[in-house]
Amino acid sequence: MTDNILLVDDDPGTIQLLASIIGDLGKLRFATAGADALRLARELVPDLLVLDAEMPDMSGFQVLQAFKADALLADVPAIFVTSHSDPAFEVAGFELGAADFIAKPVSPALLRARVRTQLRMKHLSDELRRFSVTDALTGIGNRRGFDEALEREWRVARRIGKPLALLSIDVDHFKRYNDLYGHPAGDNCLRLVAHALAGASLRPADVLARYGGEEFAMLLPQTPRAGAEHIAHRVLEAVRALAVPHADSPTAPYLSVSVGVGYYDDASICWTSPAAYSRPQVQAQLDCSSGDLVQAADRALYKAKNAGRARARLVDIAEACKARAAAAAAQVPSTPPAA
Ligand code: GH3
Ligand code: MG
Ligand code: MG
Ligand code: MG
Repeated sequence: MTDNILLVDDDPGTIQLLASIIGDLGKLRFATAGADALRLARELVPDLLVLDAEMPDMSGFQVLQAFKADALLADVPAIFVTSHSDPAFEVAGFELGAADFIAKPVSPALLRARVRTQLRMKHLSDELRRFSVTDALTGIGNRRGFDEALEREWRVARRIGKPLALLSIDVDHFKRYNDLYGHPAGDNCLRLVAHALAGASLRPADVLARYGGEEFAMLLPQTPRAGAEHIAHRVLEAVRALAVPHADSPTAPYLSVSVGVGYYDDASICWTSPAAYSRPQVQAQLDCSSGDLVQAADRALYKAKNAGRARARLVDIAEACKARAAAAAAQVPSTPPAA
């Protein structure tokens, strides 16, 4: 894969020179000011930033600070090109998170070597990152990546006031499956289910993960209630269509899953304390968290299991919030003990 390198220098002549030196090491883009660099980087996150330290509007240091402050750009390595030879200057840059420094006038051989080194390290860290969020058995996302995505999407949903649905998907009677067909067959089954689930979610923004054991999770950003229910039924159907025999299942002769949908939108009112009743709805909503959405999906899954498995149920996040508040109220005395 071709690497994307962003060259930033206020002097077009220097950009031309640098481009002639490293032009064959990646696909180059150019900016002559920090603000343009940030805009280009947000359009397409570069693999490497080669950054002039001295620029009139935004200095290279300020550009790097802006990169580090942006979750999308924080991991982009930056090589500073600078006419400073002061060690304190370089130390300050490294403390900001710079990857390397190179002095002007630039030695072509040294610049090429340093760019190559940074790209090699970027590939390694990308691979490590992919590895750390991938489930080894099924190849889909793992719980770690899912939890990160949930936090991110929760914040977005709250900020822009759009719905968020979380599907908790659990294989029915899977212990019996393993007992009858053996653990390796069970593993293979989980791979098939993962593949079926991947086909059942429709949008690139949807997030699928193996949450643990024989349980999967799917996050559907900006999906209204009817859409979430629709996807839940697609999930049931996709697993049914695998037609994996499960002779020991009391539910069906084929492998099935149950689906719990936890659902949030800006109509979900999360009353968590009596005082919240007197507050406007917007404030009351501030009391619920992504953890409540997970709880809502759990409760919904429990309902689906109890209703006979191989089906889906939906629970609004407000229900989980109320349950949490009730549990807290039962533990904490409402009036302080007398002194
Ligand atoms: P229910 O319908 O209530 O969900 O019943 P269940 O048997 O699926 O649920 P339970 O939680 O009792 O058992 C889950 C089983 O899933 C236990 C274990 O045998 C199986 N399991 C969990 N992780 C793996 C795995 O990685 N590979 C295989 N083959 N089986 C697994
Ligand atoms: Mg300059
Ligand atoms: Mg199960
Ligand atoms: Mg389970």
